[in-house]
Amino acid sequence: MTNHVITVTLSESKKQKPQSDQLEFGRVFTDHMFVADYCEGQGWTDHRIIPYAPLEMDPAATVFHYGQTIFEGLKAYVGKEGQVLLFRPEENMRRMNKSSERLCMPAFNEEIAIEALEKLISIDKDWIPVTEGTSLYIRPFMVATEPYLGVSPSKKYKFIIILSPVGSYYKEGIHPVKILVENEYVRAVAGGTGTAKTAGNYASGLRAQEIASKKGYSQVLWLDGVERKYIEEVGSMNVFFKINGEVITPILNGSILEGITRKSILQLLRHWDIPVVERKISMEELRSAHQAGTLEEAFGTGTAAVVSPIGELNWGDDIMVVNNNQTGELSKKLYETLTGIQTGKVEDSFGWVV
Ligand code: PMP
Repeated sequence: MTNHVITVTLSESKKQKPQSDQLEFGRVFTDHMFVADYCEGQGWTDHRIIPYAPLEMDPAATVFHYGQTIFEGLKAYVGKEGQVLLFRPEENMRRMNKSSERLCMPAFNEEIAIEALEKLISIDKDWIPVTEGTSLYIRPFMVATEPYLGVSPSKKYKFIIILSPVGSYYKEGIHPVKILVENEYVRAVAGGTGTAKTAGNYASGLRAQEIASKKGYSQVLWLDGVERKYIEEVGSMNVFFKINGEVITPILNGSILEGITRKSILQLLRHWDIPVVERKISMEELRSAHQAGTLEEAFGTGTAAVVSPIGELNWGDDIMVVNNNQTGELSKKLYETLTGIQTGKVEDSFGWVV
């Protein structure tokens, strides 16, 4: 039977915390981490919070060779009364178990995962930065640890949660970015692992991202892996377009990651009675809308940036400037509402924050 008593061993020395105006993304980590071990036949055992430290692993561990690993990402803020605020953590844990199923990894009890991360955050609460736009990024992940070079699911795993104080995504305020439409490389195909948050998807995306960065673009727009025709995602974000008053986002087609920000935005738009549709949308359609002057806004959505307006899309020889390279009204409203709910400044009528 799975034993889930979480033991705590506190760190004897506390690390120096960075200045909140010098925080980057994911470079510094707090004093503690949560770890649990899995062994086939025994289930998850030894749930523990221990001082943050390097792991000792066998060089033959499955994760190093065949990439059997998954992760999640969410953020914590401190509310007005000093309480810790988490945005829809149950959605992350649900998605983590969908990812683990895809990678033949064991499920981790979602309630215990939330209990573990709440306990870990309460121990490292002083690490949550409070300056506008900053937050504590939470990275739960699972790795296959069995020392065996055969290509088969590992019989041993570690589930770990680490925490990292992160700076504001928009140090100079929310602003539009330039995007390169990627015609050669693809992120995922239906039937592959695109709907799972697994390392390989991100490793395979690096090459296109590197090329785009060298050309001066912030991210790539990923197209479908079969025809390079339909729009899928932007960088590691879901993507939305506002065309002629209607908001369109690519329908979940088996290769797109189901973003929690995406889901929340769909709920908000429906609540506001703004027309919104999940469907296939092609680059041709987007170009026609741009030519007709009906492409009003474009933006990416994800935990890191929340809403990231797109100011320019480059597709081959076509340069499409969106909304005069300004942040659109809807992008701004969505950004302010979501970040307001996440930080406890806007009423959470959906019950998203715990
Ligand atoms: N797509 C990909 C590929 C991602 O990595 C992420 C970030 N998790 C997203 C979309 C957005 O998901 P979320 O809104 O849950 O952060």
